[in-house]
Amino acid sequence: MKNTRIADAADREYDAIVVGSGMTGGWAAKELCEKGLETVVLERGNFVEHGDYPTEHMPAWDMPYRGWGDRNLYEKEYGVQSQCYAFGEATRHFFVNDEQHPYVQETPFSWIRGYQLGGRSIMWGRQSYRLSDLDFEANKKDGYGVDWPIRYEDVEPWYSYVEKHVGISGALFPSAT
Ligand SMILES: Cc1cc2nc3c(=O)[nH]c(=O)nc-3n(C[C@H](O)[C@H](O)[C@H](O)COP(=O)(O)OP(=O)(O)OC[C@H]3O[C@@H](n4cnc5c(N)ncnc54)[C@H](O)[C@@H]3O)c2cc1C
Repeated sequence: MKNTRIADAADREYDAIVVGSGMTGGWAAKELCEKGLETVVLERGNFVEHGDYPTEHMPAWDMPYRGWGDRNLYEKEYGVQSQCYAFGEATRHFFVNDEQHPYVQETPFSWIRGYQLGGRSIMWGRQSYRLSDLDFEANKKDGYGVDWPIRYEDVEPWYSYVEKHVGISGALFPSAT
């Protein structure tokens, strides 16, 4: 199935190539397609169809390690990923194997990754916040890092655009007086 998709894609010409099918690439591909561009998405990981969740609702007693996981395996192959709160016996298959995908840490950096169709949207916690005007001005006010070239008002309509499509809603609290 996967090779067929690749063979099909190789025989055609595209207006746009999107690398990665996570939230970023997935959204970019959606927008490009809707604007009429012939778009191909390159994804390095496995194809995940909706419903490919073999451990969903599986009780711990049906798992080989009763939900505790193989600690020797985690230590050897999932040193970084196992630091993530969501990593466990029921979710390991959505996390990258650190032994197979090492990276250089010049300073300590826990890079939590998911290589599959949908990327980390498969594992995320569904908390959907906006950065605020305070966040966009923080670097400038603190004098650290590089000042953002944009402000909240620049992205505000785009937050609304995405939230409407995804179905995100929440309360808007007026400033305290
Ligand atoms: C457990 C967990 C919980 C989270 N909860 C929240 C939350 O509640 N709220 C929130 O806002 N954020 C949350 N996040 C963060 C959020 O999920 C990520 O910021 C977001 O999903 C990143 O999307 P992305 O498209 O930028 O990257 P990714 O989702 O990482 O997508 C990158 C994609 O590119 C592919 N790829 C990489 N290299 C290549 C290559 N060379 N060729 C082809 N494909 C490649 C990968 O396989 C992957 O599919 C959470 C993250 C995790 C891990």
